[in-house]
Amino acid sequence: MAGILIQFLVFYWIGTIPWLAVILVLVFGFLSHGILDPIAAKFTYHRPDPKWDDKFWLGYHIGMYTFTLFIVMFFIQYWLGMLASIIVDLFDWGARALKRFKFLHLDWYTEPYVHNIVNKPLLYCLKGIKGDVYSKSRVIPEIIIDVVLLACCVFFIYF
Ligand SMILES: [Zn+2]
Repeated sequence: MAGILIQFLVFYWIGTIPWLAVILVLVFGFLSHGILDPIAAKFTYHRPDPKWDDKFWLGYHIGMYTFTLFIVMFFIQYWLGMLASIIVDLFDWGARALKRFKFLHLDWYTEPYVHNIVNKPLLYCLKGIKGDVYSKSRVIPEIIIDVVLLACCVFFIYF
């Protein structure tokens, strides 16, 4: 949804220069990851390991993936912004997934290098805040953030 907002706003302000708008969507989308990932780490339920036997984890993730699917379908014309906002994940988690194909020679990719760079400034600013990605009550801030972002998307784009 951050990517949707970025694409909408960039094209709203500078859509008359499409090539520049595309570059700015990519840059701002990329940078937005450095804001939302640290916020997720500090304020949301974001455990890194899947818990398939936990009904709460499973239900929450099914709900979130369903919600995400609806957002993607509903705002599909903002695919560039959505894609730009997950470039960081595509690099780091993509490299991790592709490492098992030895012919790609990705053995050197031992850390989420792009995350380490783009998330660093805000994580540094938030270092006094102790996050708890295992706390289930942290779904509340995440849902609030999602509702606010969705309200902004609907409000900006349709009103
Ligand atoms: Zn990420």
